[in-house]
Amino acid sequence: MYILLMGPPGAGKGTQAAELVSKFAIPHISTGDMFRAAVKEQTELGKQAKACMDAGQLVPDSVTIGIVKERLAQDDCSKGFILDGFPRTLEQANALDQTLAELRINGSKVVNITVPTEELVARLTGRRICKGCGATFHVMFNPSQKGETCDKCGGELYQRADDNEETVTKRLTVYLDQTKPLIQYYQDKGIYTEIDGLQSIDKVLADIVTSLRGE
Ligand code: ADP
Ligand code: ADP
Ligand code: ZN
Repeated sequence: MYILLMGPPGAGKGTQAAELVSKFAIPHISTGDMFRAAVKEQTELGKQAKACMDAGQLVPDSVTIGIVKERLAQDDCSKGFILDGFPRTLEQANALDQTLAELRINGSKVVNITVPTEELVARLTGRRICKGCGATFHVMFNPSQKGETCDKCGGELYQRADDNEETVTKRLTVYLDQTKPLIQYYQDKGIYTEIDGLQSIDKVLADIVTSLRGE
């Protein structure tokens, strides 16, 4: 199962990817997570990515395409993967097509989770992440049973630096300008499905699984 999980920032991609990983036993590849790991390790890539992320802008295509290409070539991706947050530009989509062809991977499916903008602001500004296991929570919509700590591992919860209202607004504009046009791109290829992301987390998951299995 080769899944391209798309949708605006805050649509629920990471939340759903975590569920799909355990359901289908395929790796979760999140470019956002890869950049945050590089920032933490203070690598050259991390320094370059940090400036873009803090500004709510995309990391340059040349950089992003390079790390995804490298990752998809690894053995654990040969039977399937969940690509989360990539592609985000037409140039990335074209590069991905080329990479998949080189790797002889056919039959990828695009799942786009749609959520209206007002709701996205509330989701992103209330998002909390566990420092220990990376689980995603929301202060109102999906709180940890333990309140301030993670109910899965007891880890401390934190708020991402780019989840403040000002940066969120920029990220949503960038999405509309640069990423939304990919809907047409994948509709034209006939591999596109849309899922109503305003439903509960469980219902969104059920719809994704039905759409993946139904085709
Ligand atoms: P993305 O990876 O697309 O940016 P996340 O999975 O991190 O999105 O979700 C953004 C925020 O919205 C998180 O705080 C998450 O707990 C919450 N969330 C995810 N799915 C839903 C949903 N269906 N209903 C309400 N809140 C949700
Ligand atoms: P969200 O959960 O809001 O969808 P991500 O964790 O996917 O956010 O991405 C966080 C940031 O990392 C983005 O705002 C951007 O700066 C950078 N980033 C992630 N994926 C890409 C990509 N495919 N192309 C360029 N920049 C990216
Ligand atoms: Zn945890």
